[in-house]
Amino acid sequence: MCLFCKIIAGDIPASKVYEDDRLVAFNDIAPQAPMHVLVVPKAHVATLNDLTAAHDGLVGEMTRRAAAIAADRGYAASGYRTVFNCNADAGQAVFHIHLHVLGGRPLAWPPG
Ligand code: AMP
Ligand code: ZN
Repeated sequence: MCLFCKIIAGDIPASKVYEDDRLVAFNDIAPQAPMHVLVVPKAHVATLNDLTAAHDGLVGEMTRRAAAIAADRGYAASGYRTVFNCNADAGQAVFHIHLHVLGGRPLAWPPG
């Protein structure tokens, strides 16, 4: 079982900020900004390359949940960033898709 499947199963603890039937969101263990939340589907999908049309609704839910979490923290107007890393050049380390939600400081562009 992958790391995030273990968190979803409750085998590894996480600081959860949201959960429903299809998604969980928890604080990143190594935060890169004052808000650094990961929005994770309960279904295991390894990378963005593995998405199919059947996942379109799920990815929409992830995106809207990211926006809702940012809004709850007060960052809707000031701004925040959402990121999916895919494979080696993007530095993907956990092969279960997750949407990073970062905010609370100015975020440089372009990213490193
Ligand atoms: P990525 O590089 O996009 O695959 O991001 C993986 C993220 O998962 C990194 O930001 C890690 O800090 C984070 N991470 C790794 N292990 C844990 C954990 N046990 N709980 C929460 N976040 C984690
Ligand atoms: Zn998994």
